[in-house]
Amino acid sequence: MAYAIHATCVTCWACLPECPNDAIHERGGHLVIDPVLCTECTGDHLDPQCASICPVEEAIVDATGTPLNPLGSLTGVPAQVRLAYTAAHESGGWSCLP
Ligand code: SF4
Ligand code: SF4
Repeated sequence: MAYAIHATCVTCWACLPECPNDAIHERGGHLVIDPVLCTECTGDHLDPQCASICPVEEAIVDATGTPLNPLGSLTGVPAQVRLAYTAAHESGGWSCLP
């Protein structure tokens, strides 16, 4: 099994040096996880190092597409609030600008 980097990744590069298996590579300006090299850190660390350092919720997913850092896990903002804000923002109904 292996993890993957999702499109929400902001390419901050923080995860790349943390991987014990050199499984994270740059490709076309984005970081990707080599599924052959990724071991989910089994045998090296108790927690997956890429997800442990990643500052972006939902950026790293498991083989089923489930985020290792789901909405609200890093910010403390409840997922319902985040999703409501995103929907309102995308519809133009909510803006932080005056
Ligand atoms: S889970 Fe571990 S082995 Fe897999 S990419 Fe992340 S840091 Fe590397
Ligand atoms: S730490 Fe997270 S946001 Fe940063 S490059 Fe890695 S996956 Fe992307």
